[in-house]
Amino acid sequence: MSGARAVFVDRDGVVNELVSDPPESSLSMQDVSLIPGAAEALKRLASAGWLLIGVSNQPAAAKGIVALEELEGVQAHLLELLTAEGVRFDDFRICWHHPEGVVPALSGACRCRKPAPGMLLDAAFELGIDLAGSWMVGDTDADILASEAAGCRGVLVENERSAHKRDGRGRPDAVVPDLEAAADVILHIR
Ligand SMILES: [Mg+2]
Ligand SMILES: [Zn+2]
Repeated sequence: MSGARAVFVDRDGVVNELVSDPPESSLSMQDVSLIPGAAEALKRLASAGWLLIGVSNQPAAAKGIVALEELEGVQAHLLELLTAEGVRFDDFRICWHHPEGVVPALSGACRCRKPAPGMLLDAAFELGIDLAGSWMVGDTDADILASEAAGCRGVLVENERSAHKRDGRGRPDAVVPDLEAAADVILHIR
């Protein structure tokens, strides 16, 4: 066995609340709020020695819905909220692309948009992470498919507000209601 072990963490619907109806990612800073218990779960994982790597798809700017600066503001504000709770991610990767986007610089095929495993593979390469000993936690099929493609284990968080993004395509190693329960799974199996 070699390498650091990491928990790859999806963002929206796992760490922060989904907003509006149908539920989606926050598109403005004012809409960002942490899911109760999420910060504590991340701290427990970090204290137990797991690297925390955020991996998030954020295609709204590619689709022309909002400016990229706005999405960067959402991310910065989320990290501020987490810092205030004592949580520090070791790395946080975002795919800003969409295959059918309208903003040319952000559109077209990419290797980072989940279910592709690019963000996980790149982080693993750069930080020396042992993928087979690592986990991905997310609330959509795309998260679980990315974990399978990267060769790590997956925990599906069944956030009720993102049920429309799950149809059972992935084969998660565990299914839980929230990040707190995901941390329980990861910490006990370790
Ligand atoms: Mg999500
Ligand atoms: Zn991408």
